[in-house]
Amino acid sequence: MTRVPRIAVIGGGLGGAAAALALHRRGYEVAVYEKAAELSEIGAGLNLSPNALKAFRYLGIEDEALKTGFQAAEQLIRSFRSGRVIARPRRSGDIAARYGASFLTMHRADLLSLLIAQLPDSVFHLGADCTGAETRGRTAVAHFADGTSVDADVVIGADGIHSAVRDSIFGHIEPRFTGCICWRGLVPGEALPDPAFARQMVAWWGPHGHIVHYPVRSGGSLVNFVAHRDSDGWTEESWTHESDRSELMETYARWNPDLLGLIEASDKYYKWALYDRDPLDRWTRGRVTLLGDSAHPMLPYLGQGACMAVEDGCVLAEAISCPPGDLDAALGEYERVRMPRTTRAQLGSRVRARQNHLASPFARFRRDVKMAWRSRRGADSSAGQAAEFYDYDVAREGRFGTGPGSR
Ligand SMILES: Cc1cc2nc3c(=O)[nH]c(=O)nc-3n(C[C@H](O)[C@H](O)[C@H](O)COP(=O)(O)OP(=O)(O)OC[C@H]3O[C@@H](n4cnc5c(N)ncnc54)[C@H](O)[C@@H]3O)c2cc1C
Repeated sequence: MTRVPRIAVIGGGLGGAAAALALHRRGYEVAVYEKAAELSEIGAGLNLSPNALKAFRYLGIEDEALKTGFQAAEQLIRSFRSGRVIARPRRSGDIAARYGASFLTMHRADLLSLLIAQLPDSVFHLGADCTGAETRGRTAVAHFADGTSVDADVVIGADGIHSAVRDSIFGHIEPRFTGCICWRGLVPGEALPDPAFARQMVAWWGPHGHIVHYPVRSGGSLVNFVAHRDSDGWTEESWTHESDRSELMETYARWNPDLLGLIEASDKYYKWALYDRDPLDRWTRGRVTLLGDSAHPMLPYLGQGACMAVEDGCVLAEAISCPPGDLDAALGEYERVRMPRTTRAQLGSRVRARQNHLASPFARFRRDVKMAWRSRRGADSSAGQAAEFYDYDVAREGRFGTGPGSR
């Protein structure tokens, strides 16, 4: 009798937890090794497009996600100072009909909790700081900072943008600073200067920057904002560095007063520098592979990083399942199916970055007219390249026909 493969996932973020759930549902013996002492996510929001919701369906968490997150009817794209509405791409109704699932905004911690709740506690090993992984014959070995090692049939590096697993199998890749920094914050519903912000998903486009805000919980009890700005005044790629309110207020002093009222109502601000990395040409060495940001870190402008990480986990579980037993072929198949898609998302996010931050008034005018025209025709004007991503369904793609729940 063949034994059930043992899979070690390094990193208990959104990608690692989704992969663990998909593999667990497929009946594999899975263990997650997370560096942090507890499983938690930073206080921030996520846009989750229909392709992510279809992956949630595959994982059996779509209904819970829809109850927890926020579903906006439309997104308003506004001009940075006047607030004039440039376009109103739909986010519900026809988008769900067109792509087979809804569009959701959600708190990262809520999504992680939903994923973890489906797994036995014994899956998670906390405080496990992985230093690298290697293949010995048909065994993958993960090494940890405390000198211990773990053997598995496959090690999956889901350890994020600064992946130790990636560095150990492909060497360190120096990222490029994009010249863009971001601030983020959360505002409770009762502190919103305009109650309408509790129901709206908005992107404000201005010269050299843009700001997005949207509710992250059903009922609009918490609103997330992210402010992007072209600047080389800060170069730390960390999600946990606190910043001053005054810095934001000075940077965006010429922007719309209602928007500034929203930003001012947050009691904590974080800032980080955005770095870019070229797509890798391989994710797998021997029995060690990568997923999520460790495999394909992308700029946030298409809102696809977490969506792709969750998709990766589902597709990898499917690849390992069919045909059962040939793990080397399965890892090759996973890479073949996923890499073209995630590469398009990485490169598409770069293009979107340039469009969002146009400085010339003429170029902005041309962009805005084009957006408004597409919006009026019912095209998904905010998404542009993103629309091509929404159609994807992890349960349908390639030769993968059924979800784990159907077994
Ligand atoms: C400003 C911004 C906005 C974004 N907005 C969106 C959005 O709207 N929609 C969207 O889909 N995506 C968005 N993203 C992208 C998204 O956040 C990431 O793509 C996603 O979090 C990647 O998930 P991951 O599990 O691969 O990595 P991570 O979330 O980084 O998780 C990695 C995990 O591995 C752990 N770890 C790290 N090193 C080790 C180690 N050595 N040993 C063990 N464990 C380790 C970490 O503690 C962490 O728990 C955004 C990103 C940014 C920067």
